[in-house]
Amino acid sequence: MRLLLLAVIFSFFFLNVCGQDTTQKVVANRYNSIEQQKKPYVILISIDAFRWDLADKYQAKNLIKLRESGVQADYLKPSYPSLTFPNHYGIATGMYPSHHGIVDNTFYDQKRGVVYKKSDKIMAVDSSWYGGKPLWVIAEQQKMLSAVFYWPGSEISMDGIKPTYLFNYSEIIPIDRRINVVKDWLKLPDDKRPHFIALYFPQVDKAAHNYKPESEETRVAVKIVDDAIGKMVDAAKASGLDVNFIVLSDHGMATIDRENTITLPKAIDLNHFKVPTGNALLHIYANEKQYIKPTYKALKAEAKDYDVYLSKNIPKAWHYNKKEDKYNRIGDILLVPHLPKVFNINGVKPDVGQHGFDPAIPEMHATFYAWGPNFKSGLKIPAFENVNVYPLITKILGLSYTQKIDGKEKILAPILK
Ligand code: AMP
Ligand code: ZN
Ligand code: ZN
Repeated sequence: MRLLLLAVIFSFFFLNVCGQDTTQKVVANRYNSIEQQKKPYVILISIDAFRWDLADKYQAKNLIKLRESGVQADYLKPSYPSLTFPNHYGIATGMYPSHHGIVDNTFYDQKRGVVYKKSDKIMAVDSSWYGGKPLWVIAEQQKMLSAVFYWPGSEISMDGIKPTYLFNYSEIIPIDRRINVVKDWLKLPDDKRPHFIALYFPQVDKAAHNYKPESEETRVAVKIVDDAIGKMVDAAKASGLDVNFIVLSDHGMATIDRENTITLPKAIDLNHFKVPTGNALLHIYANEKQYIKPTYKALKAEAKDYDVYLSKNIPKAWHYNKKEDKYNRIGDILLVPHLPKVFNINGVKPDVGQHGFDPAIPEMHATFYAWGPNFKSGLKIPAFENVNVYPLITKILGLSYTQKIDGKEKILAPILK
């Protein structure tokens, strides 16, 4: 009785005081079809901001051992901008941010007249912001169960579908509980066991933002995540199932100059433009088009420590210019600071670690390791774009898709047995 009372108080505290729902959401009456039950499993793990060099730098012993048993890329190329939401949703849909619509962590939608913010709980569940078809949606549509323990975009109901097993984002669930949940998923009966599992770890990103990538705190965060992955791999082995692991990250992290930041350029008149806050890039949205050209010219004349682009002239390699901007959400003018400089237009001192810059900058490069029964072993491959992970996973799981994506199956086909 006392235990029950304690449990009630505990749930009340977390649900109402912290305002965070830590319960698992399970969609009833869903089953793997007989055909899908014969398929292998994929556990996709994202370690936010796990830069391409961090496993070696901090001797992540499990990851080093596991990647040697499978495949490792020189690095994984993020999409521009190298931020969390655009890239996670891009990995989940196989599309560049300009094509899936989540073009930044914060952006202005010119048609709606609304600013999207990743931290907005209502926007996080509103599918009308999100294009493409995430992996968990196509899996469920083909009668293969999926489970997501945090992934940007996973809380929306797309075409009326959510993952069968889902946790809404909350940072208070301890890492050991996450491992136990995965163990429990793998112990479910054949018709209820998810074949596609996605997980997200925020620890390295947090530590590297606050203390920079070269810090004791980041080393400790890497160890925490490495230990957790080691335990998950043990659980997968014990299950005797054909479990493939893909461990990747959304982007890297660089140390920036916090003391000498760039304020809002004088050329921008806020009576004529909207400028959502940002550090590694600034979108400038014109209230009326007539102000774009003169302001662009004035910005070019004023610019020091940053590049100025009209949306039609944003570098092609970023797939981020006006032509590719399917939802009309990229700024009419884009300002991109030169590392280690960042913008600070709201007076809040930026974190010492930052990302969001050109994916070609080595500090922005991300990680890709994969191992398991479907992967070749002892293979090192050149860097590739993260949009190619989607067709890799659909190939392993034998899922089909009809929508146009940016990823190409042939890029990663050679890493499969
Ligand atoms: P960034 O600002 O690009 O470094 O984004 C990382 C942050 O995004 C994390 O520290 C979380 O606060 C937040 N985040 C990550 N995943 C989610 C999610 N699924 N839902 C809401 N917020 C998230
Ligand atoms: Zn991130
Ligand atoms: Zn971050």
